[in-house]
Amino acid sequence: MQQQQNEGGTGRCLCGAVTYRFEGRPSSVGLCQCERCQRQSGSAFLIGVVFPMEAVTIEGRLSTYESRESGDGALRRHFCATCGSAVSITLDRYPEIRSMMGGTLDDKSSLQPSFAIWCSSGQPWLTLPANITCHSDYPDGTFGQ
Ligand SMILES: [Zn+2]
Ligand SMILES: [Zn+2]
Repeated sequence: MQQQQNEGGTGRCLCGAVTYRFEGRPSSVGLCQCERCQRQSGSAFLIGVVFPMEAVTIEGRLSTYESRESGDGALRRHFCATCGSAVSITLDRYPEIRSMMGGTLDDKSSLQPSFAIWCSSGQPWLTLPANITCHSDYPDGTFGQ
């Protein structure tokens, strides 16, 4: 029996105080190498696993850092209040979607990023595989659809 596209999955922060589950498969998976995501992740990029808002159920206490980065309304970075793990991002600009941070999924075996944004500010040593489309900035709709 083939796995149905409704399979869904689970994830959690480092300490386990925040857990979540999702229905179905992500609508897209992309990397962000912008300066802000590098700072928040403490790493070279952030992995955005995009779901319809209603597909994800989160349990536990998230803290939120809200910023306005582009003039298109707030971007909210939700993180575990206990261990600080980045868990999710939501945007005023795309209220119908929610990005989960790729490192928090329990099963990462099927994650396949198809694009990266803000490659122009990427760390100089980083070369992504050829099957990941690199955008120098943030073209409309890359994460939004
Ligand atoms: Zn935690
Ligand atoms: Zn970013």
